Amino acid sequence: MLIDLSDILSVDGKTKELKMPVSMDSFESKLGSFPVVEKQPLDVVITNTGKKVLRIEVKGKVSLALPCDRCLKDVATEFEIDLEKEVDMKTSEEDRIKDLDEINYITGCSLDIEQLVHNEILIHWPMRVLCKEDCKGICSHCGKDLNEGPCSCEQESPDPRMAAIRDIFSKFKEV
Ligand SMILES: [Zn+2]
Ligand SMILES: [Zn+2]
Repeated sequence: MLIDLSDILSVDGKTKELKMPVSMDSFESKLGSFPVVEKQPLDVVITNTGKKVLRIEVKGKVSLALPCDRCLKDVATEFEIDLEKEVDMKTSEEDRIKDLDEINYITGCSLDIEQLVHNEILIHWPMRVLCKEDCKGICSHCGKDLNEGPCSCEQESPDPRMAAIRDIFSKFKEV
């Protein structure tokens, strides 16, 4: 969803308020593909503060289904979008990207809301996702969800292979 900024840019002091729906149905990144389970239209306020500087404010919420780190069950995880940025439209696109921690959601004279939401989700990606604090995870032998009760595998010390899988998961997130 693109917002054309050219009319705001042409009048100093002009403000534009919009309700923008989030069109993505899933969040796609190198972390994987995660379905959007809840979304609200975003409140977008764009103000021309003069000298071709725009203040962009975006507020809203998007929830994604992320797998629990231990049992892999989907956990609805809310991402709060609350961004306020001043963008100097005088600078070239290249400089702008360098200056303002990679503002890649403004191209030419339009603001790409989906890209902005994508960035915000990535910035706020949780370090860990648990369906509940004391999630027991799944048995590394039979795959049973141990939250539903013990499995019939013999009790033994935690399987090092399972720890390795968890490590891979957490490394994956740091990328
Ligand atoms: Zn869990
Ligand atoms: Zn088992």
